[in-house]
Amino acid sequence: MSNHDVILPGATLGVLGGGQLGRMFAHAAQAMGYFTAVLDADAHSPAGLVSHHHVRTGYEDATGLAELARLCAAVTTEFENVPAGALDTLAQSLPVSPAGRCVAIAQDRAAEKAHFVACGVPVAPHAVIETPAQLTAVTPDLLPGILKTARLGYDGKGQVRVQTPADLAAAWEQLGRVPCVLEKMLALAHECSVIVARGQSGAIVHLPVQRNLHRDGILAVTEVHEGNLPPAQTSQALAAAESVANGLDYVGVLCVEFFVLQDGSLVVNEMAPRPHNSGHYSQDACDVSQFELQVRCMTGLPLVQPRQHSAAVMLNLLGDLWFDGQGRELTPAWEQVLALPGAHLHLYGKTQARPGRKMGHLNITAATPEAARATALQAAAILGIEAF
Ligand code: ATP
Ligand code: MG
Repeated sequence: MSNHDVILPGATLGVLGGGQLGRMFAHAAQAMGYFTAVLDADAHSPAGLVSHHHVRTGYEDATGLAELARLCAAVTTEFENVPAGALDTLAQSLPVSPAGRCVAIAQDRAAEKAHFVACGVPVAPHAVIETPAQLTAVTPDLLPGILKTARLGYDGKGQVRVQTPADLAAAWEQLGRVPCVLEKMLALAHECSVIVARGQSGAIVHLPVQRNLHRDGILAVTEVHEGNLPPAQTSQALAAAESVANGLDYVGVLCVEFFVLQDGSLVVNEMAPRPHNSGHYSQDACDVSQFELQVRCMTGLPLVQPRQHSAAVMLNLLGDLWFDGQGRELTPAWEQVLALPGAHLHLYGKTQARPGRKMGHLNITAATPEAARATALQAAAILGIEAF
């Protein structure tokens, strides 16, 4: 994009997908003076509820895509399983970031792993399983492992843990014999992730490295502060994320997730071609949030290196918190939580709480990591989130 192609405030920006990431994108775009359009079939989608325009069709509906293209100056996505073809269709008439070819790679664990390997970034030992022959050819060193569907998994869904070759065969049946990746189960010291934003010109900036705690395959807690991780891990994670983005000639916000093994070495897990749950702390702890970065990337506005100004802890608020021990619905004690210094509540406007459903998140900011952690533990105790 040359300078005169910059899309300035006042234009309308579109997003494919109406979930919470689309909602927070719309909020960031609107704060900067853009109008927004959301494409999502659900009349009550979190992003549709807060957007100027809401095109209520599926991702492959030609009329819906044409309407989105008519309304918008540029389009992005908040959902990685949007058909790449929909992005390619839109790209015929307006700038689309990230590109369909990048999203297509992120949608497929096998293609994604191949890209990481091509970038020289270490991955977990794994095997692609698409045929019965590949299933029987699995070597014992990959067990115990996790069998993951190549496509359409999220929050630990589409995954089965397997100990033996018999388990593996049963798991592949259970998953419907769809293309899968078997990964060796690794002993993790912890997990971390990095969010990078890359512009048309190849300029690249990043958020600080995030330390993540998952429970039942779902992100539970993210902690971010200086000294959070050994400097060698931080620089390795940053370099890997940048080479993954550069290798795709990526434009947009990209999150790369890593496993840190017990010997301190880093292995890349997966990437998300969009802002990520582990980057939500940036809304309150950094001078540029991951959603503003998304706006800047898609409009060709300058990318400046974000600065974290407060230590941060993010707690995910899952639907479980809306129920008591007897399964009766309740309202979490927001007043008590918001009495804590540095507590920032983000709720996604979902009316129906279900166990495991992401309803919102709580960002805790403080002057020191110790204070952020102490306050976050208080908030967790109030809400009924297990201590960390
Ligand atoms: P999401 O897209 O929501 O991040 P997902 O469904 O794509 O999740 P993964 O990221 O593959 O799932 O796995 C979820 C979590 O399960 C990981 O963050 C990690 O805690 C654990 N896990 C996954 N693969 C392995 C592995 N090979 N060894 C050890 N733990 C693993
Ligand atoms: Mg993951």
